[in-house]
Amino acid sequence: MKDENSKNRCKSNDTDCKSLSSLRTAFTLLVFAIFTSAVMITSVLVILLCKMGLIPKVIMPPAVLPLVTLLACTIIGTILSSFVGRLVINPLRSLIVANKEIKRGNYHVRVSGQTPIGELNALIQSFNDMADELESTNLFRNDFINNFSHEFKTPIVSIRGFARQLQKDNEHHLLTDGQRKEYTDIIAYESDRLVRLSSNILMLTKFENQQIVTDKTEFYLDEQLRHVLLILEKQWSSRSIEPELDLEEVKYNFNEEMLSQMWLNLIGNAIKFSPDGGTVKIRCKKKEGCVVVDIIDCGEGMDSDTLRRIFDKFYQGDTSRRSDGNGLGLAIVKRIAELANGEITVKSEKGKGSTFRVKLPL
Ligand code: ADP
Repeated sequence: MKDENSKNRCKSNDTDCKSLSSLRTAFTLLVFAIFTSAVMITSVLVILLCKMGLIPKVIMPPAVLPLVTLLACTIIGTILSSFVGRLVINPLRSLIVANKEIKRGNYHVRVSGQTPIGELNALIQSFNDMADELESTNLFRNDFINNFSHEFKTPIVSIRGFARQLQKDNEHHLLTDGQRKEYTDIIAYESDRLVRLSSNILMLTKFENQQIVTDKTEFYLDEQLRHVLLILEKQWSSRSIEPELDLEEVKYNFNEEMLSQMWLNLIGNAIKFSPDGGTVKIRCKKKEGCVVVDIIDCGEGMDSDTLRRIFDKFYQGDTSRRSDGNGLGLAIVKRIAELANGEITVKSEKGKGSTFRVKLPL
């Protein structure tokens, strides 16, 4: 990691040095061009004035002539420089103004226009790229906060509402036994949702901030998959879902609890999105130095729009099952796969089921 960073730094230093030296060359050429143009314009002016008879042929003593030429060159050079300088100064001024806007939190600002100096164009381009990145991070953060507050607020409002009804009932005794039971059930259900949500958020934050996986042990992956299926038994057996296993014996070295969480989320989803009486297949095979785990369901599948967003935090494609989850499960799965240097791919078609494939290096 450290080596990689220092290599990148060297690379960027190299390009910085190159662009600096080409900037120096550009400036030298610019000054040279200004001087040459000034000399040429002065010469043409003197010749023209002479030809028009406005300057007598030998008017000045030899010592004064170079001085006059130099003075004329300086005046013309300065005028030319002020025009050429504008080409550089104006974009720099726009960059300074835009930087101030970014500092104030306005991430929509961009610098437009092209200059004849390549390095300045590169600076403008990298400023615009930085602003793009900041804008999308800001959007993402706002989105996250909105989703987060919404997900938390909904169960809390519901709990407060039903708790108040029960509170009132303590004084006025208006509720039936059935209603009282219903309200306490809702309170318990919503509290469970809150607990699930907070533990998922904590877990995701922990995994996102983690760069190195600790507590690695060697265990049998096939055994782990069987164990997860057992944990989820209540969910699949109550809906007559048939699990089908095709598991090759694979020893794997990783944080056992973390990987178990990945299967819990994936198999849990396969069960959740399968129809009653459906099948969920779990396959585990060694292939080209990797272990490939497929979780296949014959459930409702996903359209391309949903497929594109399933790994986003808080995204839930199927709104009818909102209360069954919180849209964080697959974001957690993706992060765990990243930490294991693995990859996750999904194939799905609306109405035809989904296949989640996890490939982990052995
Ligand atoms: P949750 O399941 O809590 O809604 P996830 O992050 O686990 O959140 O999944 C995000 C979305 O991806 C789900 O809301 C659903 O639309 C879609 N999805 C995930 N797994 C499946 C699956 N096996 N079949 C169909 N849709 C799925």
